Amino acid sequence: MALAGQIQYFPVKHLIGAGILFLLLVFASLWPVDSGTRQQSYVIELPEISDSVPQLPEPQWEEATVQSGDSLSTLFSRENLSAVDVINIAASVPREAITLKPGQNIRWTRTADNHIVRMELEISPLAHHIITRADDGTFSYELSEQVADYVPRFASATIDSSLLYDGGQAGIPTQILYQLIAIYSWDIDFALDLRKGDTFSLIYEEVQLEGEKIGYGNILIARFNNNGRELTALRYEDPDGNDGYYTPGGSSMRKAFLRNPIDFARISSRFNLNRKHPVLNTIRAHRGTDYAAPTGTPIKTTGDGKVIFAGRQNGFGNVVIIQHGSRYQSKYAHMSRFGSGIRTGKYVKQGQVIGYVGMTGLATGPHLHFEFLVDGVHRDSLRVDLPKAESVNSKNKADFNIVSARLTSWLDNFEALNTAGLQ
Ligand SMILES: [Zn+2]
Repeated sequence: MALAGQIQYFPVKHLIGAGILFLLLVFASLWPVDSGTRQQSYVIELPEISDSVPQLPEPQWEEATVQSGDSLSTLFSRENLSAVDVINIAASVPREAITLKPGQNIRWTRTADNHIVRMELEISPLAHHIITRADDGTFSYELSEQVADYVPRFASATIDSSLLYDGGQAGIPTQILYQLIAIYSWDIDFALDLRKGDTFSLIYEEVQLEGEKIGYGNILIARFNNNGRELTALRYEDPDGNDGYYTPGGSSMRKAFLRNPIDFARISSRFNLNRKHPVLNTIRAHRGTDYAAPTGTPIKTTGDGKVIFAGRQNGFGNVVIIQHGSRYQSKYAHMSRFGSGIRTGKYVKQGQVIGYVGMTGLATGPHLHFEFLVDGVHRDSLRVDLPKAESVNSKNKADFNIVSARLTSWLDNFEALNTAGLQ
C-alpha cells in the first residue's frame, strides 16, 4: 500500500509520527463514515500529525573551556560534534570569532545527530560571538555585546580583629578588600599597623547586568582612619586613560624614591660584591653605597615609609631601617645621631631628615653607608630601577580637582548618613 511505501523515506525520528498516523488511519477506517471522508484521511499532512507526538526535551546547553592548543576542530572532535560543521562555520563566520583562546568559555546546543544549533563563544562576561545554524545547514554570525551598569556601593567598617574579617562582616567583597590593601600598601602595614577601633569607609563599583550582580569594578574613593592618621585615596583616570589612586591633593598613593639620601655628597664606595673591607681587610661584599660627608650632615629618607628599626647594630653603629610599601627597604648606617622623633614604628615622609652623618660602628671616617633592598635582596641603589609615581600632572590638575571634590563630598555625605544611621 502507498503509506507503507512512504515510510521508508522518512527519517527515523518521524517513524513515531508516522506510526501514529498509521494508527489514526486504521482508526479512521473503522469509524463508520462515508467513503469520501476516508479518502480525505489519506491526505492528512505529516507535520500536523507530528505535532501530536510528545515534544522532545528542550535542547540542553553543553559547555567547555578552551584548552591550550585547541582549535575549533580539536574541540569539536573532543566533544563529538560534527566535523562538517567546522568547515561550514569557518566559511561563514569571521576568523577572529573562531580563533580560540585558552581559558575561553564556550557553550552550545546540538541536534540529535551532533550538529551545532547555537554556539556562544565568550569574549568577556558582556560580549559573545554567537553562531546560529539555519535550516539549510549554513551558519549565521552575530556579535552580542551587552552594556553593564556600574552601581556605586558605600560601605564602612570598624576594625575589631582584621581587615578581611571585619570588612567581610560589613558585607564588603573580598576582591574589593584586596584592592583596598593594594591602594594603602605604602601607608599601612595591614599585619602590624591596624588598631582595634580603626575605621574605614569606601565607595566601590558593583557591576550589574540587567539588574543582576556579575562582579565588581574599582574602588572610587576610600578613607582609612588608622591609629590617628586619616588617609584618603581616590581613583582618577586622566584624559589619556591612565588611572591611579591619589590623595585629594593629587599626590600618588604609590610612592617614589630619591636616588640619593644626601645632597651633594661624594660617593666614596660603590655597591660591590667582591670588595676588600677597609677595616677588616678581608673580602667582604659591600652591599651598599657610601657617601663621604662631614659629621652632622643631614640624611634624608629616600621615600615615604615606616621606621622598622632605629637603634644600634654592631658594625653599622647607629642605624635606621625604613620599610617602603611591601617591597622596598632602605638602611642608613654609621649615624652620629638620629633625627628628631625618629624611632621604630614612626612614619616618615620622603626627604624627611632621619639622622646625621657620623662614624659610629666600624668606619674609617665620617660617612653614610646606605643600602637599598628590593624584595629582601640588596640592590645597587645607584643603578636599580626605582618605581615611578608621579603626582597628577599640571595639565590635568583642574580636571583632577573637580573629580577629587566630587568624590570627597560624595564620601562625606555617605559617611554623614551612615553616622546618622540612615545608610
Ligand atoms: Zn658602606
